Amino acid sequence: MKLTIGHLYPDLLNLYGDRGNIQCFRKRLEWRGMEAEVIPFLSGDSIDFSKLDIVLLGGGSDREQELVCGHLKNIQQDFKEYVENDGVVLAVCGGYQLLGKYYKTDKKLIEGLSILNITTEWEPERLIRNIVLNSPLFDTPVVGFENHGGRTMIGDHTPFGKVFYGLGNTGKSGYEGVVYKNVIGTYLHGPLLPKNPHVCDYLLERALKKKYGDDIALAPLPDELEHQANSYIVDRYSDKKYILKET
Ligand code: GLN
Repeated sequence: MKLTIGHLYPDLLNLYGDRGNIQCFRKRLEWRGMEAEVIPFLSGDSIDFSKLDIVLLGGGSDREQELVCGHLKNIQQDFKEYVENDGVVLAVCGGYQLLGKYYKTDKKLIEGLSILNITTEWEPERLIRNIVLNSPLFDTPVVGFENHGGRTMIGDHTPFGKVFYGLGNTGKSGYEGVVYKNVIGTYLHGPLLPKNPHVCDYLLERALKKKYGDDIALAPLPDELEHQANSYIVDRYSDKKYILKET
């Protein structure tokens, strides 16, 4: 069995090592005797979404997001169709914002893909923090790190999780990210999947079931170290609360 992973715009959306999540997808497939092909699509490349099983969109600065915005128009329809047909997507921070209708900075309105019915507006105080979520998708909490100026209003969408510690979509709503069909949009940067192998396996299983049928179940891997690291963070923040100052 094999999955093909499309990495969108690694030349522009490349903050904080979000690409490490691709390594995690690849290794966790290989450890189970499966294959992963990774295709990087640079800005301007044409993308055949019908060949892809997983898409990763990483984070980027406002300037890079603006550059990406120009390319999104060319892929909007195909990308939307991919999502509506249950294609798997992990979109992080700037990438998550670009799945929405727009990201409004202090200077510009950056048009998004309108795949999710969400909007983002910049505010001067950046939300930078470790974060712990409880997601209805998992028994184990999701841990990570966030760093964003944008505040994302998710409307009627289902959040990825409830913020246990940290700031999340707006710093005030108490929620983080969005789950829509097989899309996870989140502010959790960098090694999201290595820190949360349960999230990685959830996305891999979704992609495998779509391609090979509902009988597919992933064999467990020896994740003791990952679980220890996850529990360490959860324990560390279990009695702390961080509330954004009212301005
Ligand atoms: N430029 C966006 C923001 O600051 C996204 C940043 C990021 O991907 N870290 O909100």
